[in-house]
Amino acid sequence: MKRLNFTLDAATVELLERLARTYYGGNKSQTVRAALESLATHVGHDGWVVAGYTPVRLEGRAACHTCGEAHQEGEVLFRPVFERGVSPRALPHIPAEPWLDCPRCVEVQLAP
Ligand SMILES: [Zn+2]
Repeated sequence: MKRLNFTLDAATVELLERLARTYYGGNKSQTVRAALESLATHVGHDGWVVAGYTPVRLEGRAACHTCGEAHQEGEVLFRPVFERGVSPRALPHIPAEPWLDCPRCVEVQLAP
């Protein structure tokens, strides 16, 4: 057990008290744990995440998968490489459709 101090606004305190009273016999610690477990199952899930990108020189026209910008033959776009992982953005299946991203979208994707 560890004591944590944090400040909650009035609405949050009221919500916590109401949930604790209704579902957890007034136990706020159990209520917070249940809330965090529920959040964890919603924000991160198993699936396929982008592990990196392979440069591809276009042999025809193509549009960026993410922003839709049109690109001409000879330009370099990036094909994502997928691996199993946990992320809010994880996909349930490896996408079957052609997927090429422009350098700008790749930079946004890889930014911390
Ligand atoms: Zn783009």
